[in-house]
Amino acid sequence: NHEKMGWNLDNSYSRLPHAYYSNQSLNRVSEPRLVIFNKRLAQDLGLNETILAEEGLNILAGNLAPDGAKPLAQAYAGHQFGNFTMLGDGRAVLLGEQMTPKGECFDIQLKGSGRTVFSRGGDGRAALGPMLREYIMSEAMFGLGIPTTRSLAVVTTGEPVYRETTLDGAVLTRVAASHIRVGTFQYAAQMGEFDHLKALADYTIQRHYPKVAEAKYPYLSLLENVIKHQVELITKWQLVGFIHGVMNTDNMSISGETIDYGPCAFMDTYDPATVFSSIDRQGRYAYGNQPYIAAWNLARFAETLIPLLSEDKEQALELAQQAIESFGPLYEQAYLAGMAEKLGIFQKEEKDEELVKTLLKLMEQHKVDYTNTFRALTLEQYEQSDFYQSSEFKEWQRQWQVRLDNQKESKQEAKLLMKSKNPAIIPRNHRVEEALEAAVMDEDFTVMEKLLEVLSDPFAYSDKQNEFTKLPKNDEGYQTYCGT
Ligand code: AMP
Ligand code: MG
Ligand code: MG
Repeated sequence: NHEKMGWNLDNSYSRLPHAYYSNQSLNRVSEPRLVIFNKRLAQDLGLNETILAEEGLNILAGNLAPDGAKPLAQAYAGHQFGNFTMLGDGRAVLLGEQMTPKGECFDIQLKGSGRTVFSRGGDGRAALGPMLREYIMSEAMFGLGIPTTRSLAVVTTGEPVYRETTLDGAVLTRVAASHIRVGTFQYAAQMGEFDHLKALADYTIQRHYPKVAEAKYPYLSLLENVIKHQVELITKWQLVGFIHGVMNTDNMSISGETIDYGPCAFMDTYDPATVFSSIDRQGRYAYGNQPYIAAWNLARFAETLIPLLSEDKEQALELAQQAIESFGPLYEQAYLAGMAEKLGIFQKEEKDEELVKTLLKLMEQHKVDYTNTFRALTLEQYEQSDFYQSSEFKEWQRQWQVRLDNQKESKQEAKLLMKSKNPAIIPRNHRVEEALEAAVMDEDFTVMEKLLEVLSDPFAYSDKQNEFTKLPKNDEGYQTYCGT
């Protein structure tokens, strides 16, 4: 029945040198139960959602390999909070790459599916709460139009996982453009085998940046393309206030997708120093640091490519250096253009930087909500608060209006632009927690389903959704934990 289910798997990763992966047998779980399922995504993948959700349950649980699968765990390395470590899929298996009816190709990976050769001390398992959290956050990012891995399903296993307490085990089916990470290239470089490195780079080019193959210097072009995609990604994060929380090099995807939803969260009160992750005590991955960390990670990526950039090492280093130095200016440009659009400005001008920075400074001083401030500006509906009544805000608002009056586009057009750039809805921490609590404690998935529905259309600006824009009474000290 696998054919009727729509599986059309390739195993291109397994054709890389064997050092890049380990073949993996599946670990059976006793009582799989489908608790959340992404029908739309299944359809887009060319999978029959009805058959997959029923007979396919054992596939989503890791009890059975679909036709054409060659389960494997990927090897990689990474800088975790700045320290280089050998890693690999310690609790995930790649089933293969699904070729969709549209001719696209996506990794189908089971996360939480049991021990692998890379598990080290870990149990290879995942708990239900964090897998549901990944499902919510990744689908929220998708709804916001931000490149991301997707979530196809979460299945409970009927088996306990032991953390500080005993929790329900679960498996998440993750769908990704690929799972090639900066850390995969670091692993390649660490092996020190030119042919292996070249094989990975060529595979990456073929899979993600096929045009690069025709460039005069394909590997330099690969580096430049990865930088460009990361600039775009990080800009989008910053513009909506997304904090990844654990931007280790193994959690940075070469395809430019957001990957690894562990301790991520959206900033509420505007403050560049915002950190939610309980383990990020130094604030390495704070909101305002994300662009710098991205550049740092990309420098680690560039280093791995040195042998491919030129036979002349000096020249290779210089090319890498130049490429990395482009990150800062590219990011500044993209961020300011994006911020200008959030303010309804179509053609960014130099002096808009001041308008943006002044607003952000005021938001920081008055400790106001990031998303809701832009929502209020979009709707021109200001609540009675110290911030909106302050003379500084009123002065800023006057200058902003002058700026809008001076562009050729109408006020109406500016408003539409703002509505398309400023989400009314983000996955607010208290809403996510509420949905997870109902699901995990009471087996009530309706709260999560409702939240997912609202998050699928975050730019709707409909009155029906107003309750999802509200802030909690007290959200101070909210903390997230690394996905367990
Ligand atoms: P992360 O912090 O999610 O990026 O994970 C870092 C590394 O730890 C990866 O190599 C994971 O595969 C591994 N890992 C995380 N949780 C477990 C677990 N429960 N069992 C085995 N390996 C794990
Ligand atoms: Mg990871
Ligand atoms: Mg993780």
